Amino acid sequence: MVKMPEPDPEALAKRDRIVGALREIVPGEGVIVSADEMRAYECDGLTAYRQVPMAVVLPSTTEQVSRILRLCHEERIKVVPRGAGTSLSGGALPLTDGIVLGMGKFNKILDIDLENRTVTVQPGVTNLGITRAVEHAGFYYAPDPSSQIACTIGGNIAENSGGVHCLKYGLTTNNVLGLEMVLPNGDIVRLGGKHLDAEGYDLLGLMTGSEGLLGVVTEVTVRILQKPETARAVLIGFPTVEQGGDCVAAIIAAGIIPGGLEMMDHPALNAAEDFCHAGYPRDVQALLICELDGPAAEVDHLIGVVSGIARQHGATYIKASESEEERIAFWAGRKNAFPAAGRISPDYYCMDGTIPRRQLAYVLRRMEEMSQHYGLRVANVFHAGDGNLHPLILYDANKPGELERAEAFGADILKLCVEVGGVLTGEHGVGVEKRDLMDTMFNEDDLKQQQRVKCAFDPSQILNPGKVFPTLHRCAELGRVHVHRGELRFPDLPRF
Ligand SMILES: Cc1cc2nc3c(=O)[nH]c(=O)nc-3n(C[C@H](O)[C@H](O)[C@H](O)COP(=O)(O)OP(=O)(O)OC[C@H]3O[C@@H](n4cnc5c(N)ncnc54)[C@H](O)[C@@H]3O)c2cc1C
Repeated sequence: MVKMPEPDPEALAKRDRIVGALREIVPGEGVIVSADEMRAYECDGLTAYRQVPMAVVLPSTTEQVSRILRLCHEERIKVVPRGAGTSLSGGALPLTDGIVLGMGKFNKILDIDLENRTVTVQPGVTNLGITRAVEHAGFYYAPDPSSQIACTIGGNIAENSGGVHCLKYGLTTNNVLGLEMVLPNGDIVRLGGKHLDAEGYDLLGLMTGSEGLLGVVTEVTVRILQKPETARAVLIGFPTVEQGGDCVAAIIAAGIIPGGLEMMDHPALNAAEDFCHAGYPRDVQALLICELDGPAAEVDHLIGVVSGIARQHGATYIKASESEEERIAFWAGRKNAFPAAGRISPDYYCMDGTIPRRQLAYVLRRMEEMSQHYGLRVANVFHAGDGNLHPLILYDANKPGELERAEAFGADILKLCVEVGGVLTGEHGVGVEKRDLMDTMFNEDDLKQQQRVKCAFDPSQILNPGKVFPTLHRCAELGRVHVHRGELRFPDLPRF
């Protein structure tokens, strides 16, 4: 189990005063302190970890966010920003000696500019809400996490979220143009805008994927795209997972960038088929869903090319969607693969690592060996085109030791991803989940340099501490103070 920092007794002792000050900033029902009501905020999608915060505050204006952060900065109170709480890495896990800053009331669409192809929204608007606001005019917002019905654009920015369409259209970072954000000291800044490029450092890029550690996003401008004239999805089944993996590499090598290229192994596709009857073949070991979009003639041509490549790689099942309903049904199974796994196991642990595509078959084989070693089943769902794996480790939390075994299995999978030249996370973030694995990927100097960036934004380290970095360094320790003969600085400082 990942250890969280010990609660700070000084912060806990200030609770009543802080709650009073928060109530002055956000009057009415915007401050929640009862233990029962705060249960709704005790965890995010990484439900194995739960902590009730000191208080929850629900502001509705940027000015309120600014005043809250200034107060917390001055009083050294920790703040955990929260969108919809669907993070799978514990990024929105509360701290017992800190407040949760819920951004749910920031739910307005502020500007739709079809000429510039941009939409400006508040950060609590859901990912799907952006597409819903512009689809009448033939536009959509491309990054599409499976959680898009619930997750917020603010959370998407913090996690640099992706989805099945990101292979062709980019992740959140490629689709965000501008932000308003509040710094931990309460200052309000703007980064980027409707224009395509900004002068100076790419601070917008830095904010995207910063996991709520650098500032609180209060307004977002995103790029929207025109819906393609046609989109068709092809289901391609293989007798082995290796053949499916090789086919993915061959499609990309042929110069085709599909709108989506996803793969499921036998346990995952069966669970998805049971759950939503998408029309998947059950007698294959691996199923690819390949979506091709663009002008109808081009799509028809590419379906022929992809089918040819699939046959060369041993495909035993090929079926292209013949209607929009059928295309949506093909995707419904994939998009519901996580809840579907909930029907074949009381609990599952969703991993998220990325590997070079050519290592797919090797990594899947090694995972199978690990599955036997740990005595736990695994169902595999992945953004195959991006090499982004989502192994779902199936376990039963009521059986003593199974959660710990699942976590150890998950850690081994992520170490394997790094070993073959990949990375610890594709899109779910580090949070608390992968925090203690960061040093398998980064050396001490890398990590210190990253923390210096954190210190530049948040010198008093009030925003989401305990997440992302395996060791807590004081900002002074990272730059301004020399270490004498290797003696440990600040021995009182919590190291976890
Ligand atoms: C069933 C399911 C399927 C999923 N599928 C995908 C998928 O396909 N692709 C994918 O990428 N992810 C997926 N996720 C993970 C999750 O939905 C994303 O990480 C999402 O971006 C989180 O958004 P949220 O609004 O729920 O953020 P939260 O969980 O509330 O917070 C996530 C992080 O963002 C920070 N944060 C939130 N709002 C702000 C803000 N306004 N300013 C600064 N920081 C902020 C928090 O502090 C935290 O660190 C899935 C999750 C579930 C449960």
